[in-house]
Amino acid sequence: MWTSDEFKEHCADALALALPISCAGCDLPDRNLCKECRAALVANLQYRELFDEESLQRLPLWFAMELGEPLSGVLHHFKEKGRTSVAKHLAMPLRDAMKAIYHQVTLESSYPVTWVVPPSSRASFRQRGYSPIGMLATAAGVRLQKLLTISRRRADQSQLGRMERFRNMKGVYTAKPAAKGTRVILVDDVLTTGATLLECARALRAGGAEVLGAAVLAYTPKNFQDTRR
Ligand SMILES: [Zn+2]
Repeated sequence: MWTSDEFKEHCADALALALPISCAGCDLPDRNLCKECRAALVANLQYRELFDEESLQRLPLWFAMELGEPLSGVLHHFKEKGRTSVAKHLAMPLRDAMKAIYHQVTLESSYPVTWVVPPSSRASFRQRGYSPIGMLATAAGVRLQKLLTISRRRADQSQLGRMERFRNMKGVYTAKPAAKGTRVILVDDVLTTGATLLECARALRAGGAEVLGAAVLAYTPKNFQDTRR
């Protein structure tokens, strides 16, 4: 007998035969996400600290994986091609990073934690119809709180260098009044320079929240500088 997950995989594969599709990770034909690529999406947890040079605040963070193949291919299909069927496979390693930071920050006392993701711009939400990181964090099993709003437009980060990214993100988010008094763990999909997460933390702290740390699915080793001091 198949388990329900296996059954769903077989259905996805059967559907792949009806509609031309290839593995989101390696392009193997007629598979939504092949067995090898699924097996490669496991967490290899690592710890970092981001440091905000203006506020002099630290942001402890756990990430699940380095961004390489097949993860980057799967993320591309998930974020840019609407392949939402891979969300549950991406959510598993993310969940491990979320557990790691949760256990670290709640070691002393088991106070309630509020989970927050960087808000999607209205344009990208309209284009995709979903928030990729919102979908992943929800699939990882937490209920998200929308405590941040976008207060001004920003340029696409992907074309910018490290210092430009920090300048581009400055003042982009504002915390909602509900942020006051909350204890927040941030969640994001890809960490490049940390500019987005540090801006989220800055806005939440300015709004009276305590930002305990962050969990990230993937980080990009070539662009990332450990800002620990
Ligand atoms: Zn594959």
